[in-house]
Amino acid sequence: MADELFFKSIAELGDLLAARTVSATELTRAVLARTQAVEGRLHAFNSRDEAEALAQAGASDARRAAGQARGPLDGIPVGLKDVIAVAGQPLTASSRMLANFVSPYDATVTARLKAAGAVFWGRLNCDEFAMGSSTENSAFGPTSNPWDLTRVPGGSSGGSAAALAAGAAIATLGSDTGGSIRQPAALCGVVGLKPTYGLVSRYGLVAFASSLDQIGPLTRTVEDAAIMLGALAGHDPLDSTSFPADIPDYRAELKRRPGPWRLGIPKEYFGAGLDPEVQAAVERAMDFYRAQGCTLQEVSLPHTQYCLDTYYIIATAEASSNLARYDGVRYGHRSTAAKDAVDLYRQSRAEGFGAEVKRRIILGTYVLSSGYYDAYYLRAQKVRTLIRQDFLNAYREVDALLTPTSPVPAFKLGEKSDPLALYLCDIYTIGVNLAGLPAVSVPCGFTAGGLPIGLQLIGRPFDEANLLALAGAYERGHDWHRRTPSL
Ligand code: GLN
Repeated sequence: MADELFFKSIAELGDLLAARTVSATELTRAVLARTQAVEGRLHAFNSRDEAEALAQAGASDARRAAGQARGPLDGIPVGLKDVIAVAGQPLTASSRMLANFVSPYDATVTARLKAAGAVFWGRLNCDEFAMGSSTENSAFGPTSNPWDLTRVPGGSSGGSAAALAAGAAIATLGSDTGGSIRQPAALCGVVGLKPTYGLVSRYGLVAFASSLDQIGPLTRTVEDAAIMLGALAGHDPLDSTSFPADIPDYRAELKRRPGPWRLGIPKEYFGAGLDPEVQAAVERAMDFYRAQGCTLQEVSLPHTQYCLDTYYIIATAEASSNLARYDGVRYGHRSTAAKDAVDLYRQSRAEGFGAEVKRRIILGTYVLSSGYYDAYYLRAQKVRTLIRQDFLNAYREVDALLTPTSPVPAFKLGEKSDPLALYLCDIYTIGVNLAGLPAVSVPCGFTAGGLPIGLQLIGRPFDEANLLALAGAYERGHDWHRRTPSL
């Protein structure tokens, strides 16, 4: 980790804050100044409230002075993807539809981070309603990759990954419906954790596809991911899909679970379309685990070829339903050109939504329509069960799976104009969402051109403690995560 405060990990900063070597105000000022220096080139933020961040930092310092510090996140600047509600702050989902919306309440994850003393720093750019893999679908313009400003940061949580990699936040939150935490983490060289479906509450998350959406952290290190998950996880009566799982001390468990692990290598994840430099980096990670005494074996997830089709039926079906609420009546963009009520719905939606969101609403409405429901939606649900079964079968023989996170490193802004080309970015991440599993992306190397590469580790349901320990073992043996982009 570089010397600058804004490039340090939560764990390192937690020590400095506890020792009173640094105050939360100094740390926050360092992150704000860094943001000012880089944001003109990055465009990672949709909005920022410096006065509010400094007020929270001051409150953190006052708590610490009174001997009431709340733990490792107290005083740490954390950025939230602009789909997660913070009371009194804008919540746009990077859409014209919500351009002027201010959230009346806190998401549960926001409330939990507040209780842990985190300092909220900005609303981070993303693809509109989290639909995309490059952050180019934001109504407010794309975010750049800090490692190469002509390239995308990935998506949909591209602002969360770019801000973190650039030192404009110490940790961030993203949401992952088909890879939106892990893929941008891989493309920006940071750690991204998608928790098991049900482990982290989605109350206060702008809904995209409710049977797939999960909130999770993007961090500099695996230990930081464990710290964040510890604050975020736990049952929430406000989210009916929230599961009453036991929440271990993920940070402490990192050291208690030494392996060796049995790792499965799904052969379907190493086929056509995989960039040779990405493949080579992932194969070196396999060698590392082998040298640590892990057993590696090839496994098969035979329904992988249907993941993309299944995802784009289920996700669009749910999106078409979730986005029906944006009708210009109660909140959101309202057209001033409408002649009557039906026209108001039509015009407000036509003006408020971008092209990709409209494409998905149309697709989702089609697969749910009478006559096509059985052929598409119902069939996709059955295939989804087979996909989940593939993973559970593999877990009879292995403890976790090892794959690339993204088939390619960061691509050029504007390079992928065909929607299908972008959908193919998710071939290694969406199976995890369809099966409801936890998975983490950790930095595992760089291309010859200096672009980060991510390794994906996929765990058993609710087995985040082992998954993070497995990822931590890799991180301890490497220093990819210590590199910082020269912006
Ligand atoms: N890129 C995928 C999509 O466009 C996943 C997005 C996400 O995880 N939110 O749907």
